[in-house]
Amino acid sequence: AALDPATRDLTARRDEVLGASYRLFYRRPVHLVRGEGQYLWDVDGRKYLDMYNNVASLGHCHPAVVAAVHDQMQRLNTHTRYLHETILDYTDDLLSTLPVELDKAMYMCTGSEANDLAIRVARASSGGEGIIASREAYHGTSDLTSGVSPALGSGQPIAPSARLVDAPDAYRVDAPDLGAWFADRVRAAIADMEAHGTRFAGLILDSIFSSDGVLPGPAGYLREAVDVVHRAGGVVIADEVQPGFGRTGEAFWGFQRHGIVPDVVTLGKPMGNGIPVSGLVARADVLAAFSDTVPYFNTFGGNPVSMAAAQAVLTTIRDEGLQQHSASVGAFALDELRGLMATHETVGDVRGAGLFIGFELVRSRDGREPDRALALALLEQLRDRGVLTSVAGPHGNVLKLRPPLAFQAADVDWLVGALDESLTALGA
Ligand code: PMP
Repeated sequence: AALDPATRDLTARRDEVLGASYRLFYRRPVHLVRGEGQYLWDVDGRKYLDMYNNVASLGHCHPAVVAAVHDQMQRLNTHTRYLHETILDYTDDLLSTLPVELDKAMYMCTGSEANDLAIRVARASSGGEGIIASREAYHGTSDLTSGVSPALGSGQPIAPSARLVDAPDAYRVDAPDLGAWFADRVRAAIADMEAHGTRFAGLILDSIFSSDGVLPGPAGYLREAVDVVHRAGGVVIADEVQPGFGRTGEAFWGFQRHGIVPDVVTLGKPMGNGIPVSGLVARADVLAAFSDTVPYFNTFGGNPVSMAAAQAVLTTIRDEGLQQHSASVGAFALDELRGLMATHETVGDVRGAGLFIGFELVRSRDGREPDRALALALLEQLRDRGVLTSVAGPHGNVLKLRPPLAFQAADVDWLVGALDESLTALGA
C-alpha cells in the first residue's frame, strides 16, 4: 500500500537530515503520539498493543514515574559531585534486590555505557583483555561494546581479542546436557584466545540471550560456564538490560533463574521506565582494580531526577507485584501461544520466562528450517492488526514478545487472535 502523505513527509525528512544508520520498523512506518500502560496510539487515533517495549516496563507514561520525575525536576537536577540522598537511598534499595556479594554500584545513562565500563572493570580486575560473548549478542554502541556485538552485522568488526560462542539454544542444539555443552564452548574459546596470545578477561552474557533468539531454558544451564570462567581467572558480566527488573517472572534478575552469582551486573532500559538511566553493580574486590586507580565521572549518570525515576520503578514493581504478575500472565500467554501450534505447522517453538517470549517460525516443524521471510511478513500483518513487535535470533525468524509488564491476561486474545489471523492470511 502507498504511504499516506504525512508518513511520506516525515520519512523523507528523516532521510534528509538524519544519519543513514537509523532504521525504521515496518514498510508502513508507525507514527506514535501517545502511550498508556501496554497501549500506544498513532497520529490517527488508532490503538496498538505494544508487545515489544521493555523500556516502558511498568507501562507507558506510568504516573508514579511521571510524578517522581516532575517533582524532582522542579527542585533540583545536578551531578554526583555534590551530596544528595536520592542516589544513596536508591542504591540501598537496589542492592537489597541483589546477592550480597554484589555490594557497589555506579551509574550512567545507557546500557552501552554500563557494558563499556563493565569490560574495562573486567580487564582491570583480571589483567586480561579477551572478552567472550554469544554468537548473536548485542551489548552496545561504544567501541568496546560494539566489538562484542555481532548482532550489528558484518559491517561491524568483532574485536580481534574477542571470541564468540554459540548460544545454548534448547530448540536447535542436540545435547543431553545443554549446560555442559555451553561450558565446553566457553572453555574452547578461552583456550583459543590464549593460544593466540590474548589473556582472558571475562564472559559477557545476557542470561535470556535476547538477541540470540530468546533462550530462557532450561533454568540453571549457565552454572557450569560460570565455573569455567572463574577457574580461568575471568570475570562474569551479566547484562541485565533486557531480562532484569522482574521481567522473567520467577526471579527479579534474569541471572538468578540460573542460580549464578556474576561478578558484575549491568542494568539499563527498564531501570527508569523511559528516563535514560543505567547502572553497574559489582563485587567490591572486582571493581577495586579499576576504581581505585581510574576516576569515573558521568555528567548525567546518577543525577537526582534519574534516581527519582529509578526509585519509582523499583517501588512500583513491588507495590504492583509486577514480578509475580509477569510470572503468572507470562505463563498464561505462553500456553495460549502454544495453542497456535495445533493449527499452524509453521510455529516451531514457543518458549519464555515471564513476559519474555520467543515465538519461532519454521518452514516445517520436522525440518526446523528457520523461516525468516515468514517472520518478516508476519510482523507487517501483525502491525496491520495493531500488534507491534519485532524479530530476533541468528536467522531473524523468532518473534520477540516482550510487552510492558502492564500487559494483562485480557490482552492475550488480541495477541493470539492477531497471530492466528495473520498466519492464516499468509497461508502459514
Ligand atoms: N545490552 C543489551 C542486552 C541490549 O539489549 C541493549 C540495547 N538494545 C544494550 C545492552 C545497549 O543499551 P543502550 O541502547 O541503552 O545503550
